[in-house]
Amino acid sequence: MKIIALDIGGTAVKSGLVDNGVLKEHRETPTPASEGGQAVVALAKKLIAAYLPEGADGIGISTAGVVDSKSGSILFAEDCIRGYTGIQVKALLEDAFSLPTAVENDLNAAAVGEAAFGAGKGCKSLLCVGFGTSVGGAAVLDGRLYTGSHFGAGEFGHMVTHAGGLPCGCGQRGCFERYASASALVRQAQRLDPSLDSGRAIFRRLREPRVKAVVDSWLREIVYGLASLIHLWDPDCLALCGGVMQQSYPVEQLKALVPKSVMPAYRSVSIQAAQLGNQAGLLGAAELARRLAAGQLR
Ligand SMILES: [Zn+2]
Repeated sequence: MKIIALDIGGTAVKSGLVDNGVLKEHRETPTPASEGGQAVVALAKKLIAAYLPEGADGIGISTAGVVDSKSGSILFAEDCIRGYTGIQVKALLEDAFSLPTAVENDLNAAAVGEAAFGAGKGCKSLLCVGFGTSVGGAAVLDGRLYTGSHFGAGEFGHMVTHAGGLPCGCGQRGCFERYASASALVRQAQRLDPSLDSGRAIFRRLREPRVKAVVDSWLREIVYGLASLIHLWDPDCLALCGGVMQQSYPVEQLKALVPKSVMPAYRSVSIQAAQLGNQAGLLGAAELARRLAAGQLR
């Protein structure tokens, strides 16, 4: 089955043709975010139209923002694309192309991609936890994406791990992401040396004991959160996402530390880095569209 897949982000729109789970062609186009949501949809239509001559059975859209995946509309996206909130992406694209179209939030789509083709392949249930400027995530349970009652499931970063701790943008205090995000690591490292301004810069200097101490303290914060998530969801696989988790040190440390922090029945959980990189959203959106076209998506 051939699916045209798009991954709409605040800075770039990735697009490609996915044939039986394999990304055949992949391009990246700047997102006209400042021109608003309608301009983004117009670009999406143009990109999709370019793939049509190759034949397609469906369209899969992974997108920034909170997405009502039942209606395929954008519930909220003002923080990344102005005027995108409220746009009926699925209806607009199905009217234009008469192809079954699946629309899903980008983190959720990436989790579906990892579950089907990457770190969670063969697993019953997968949690994806992403570490970047914030901490986000998604849950694929018994093979199906769990979106919650309001399409908001997976906000792992706003689980409170420090009662009364640091203030968070969500209005609470002590949220997991204030301590465990890649940004939190950089913030701590820059107290030592302002030139430690990225995960890459920090891991290059891991042999310095004071840098390693900052990294190890950050990893302990991650362990608190992951242990709670494992106790709550009992997944058989947990994928660590985000650029900082492409480094081997944090992944190997978490593989060793997390099982020691959960009850014995949970220790067989497989912890690994996400495998699909920036193709996860495209592949996941394509998989959702394939299921929709095959009548398997409820
Ligand atoms: Zn928060």
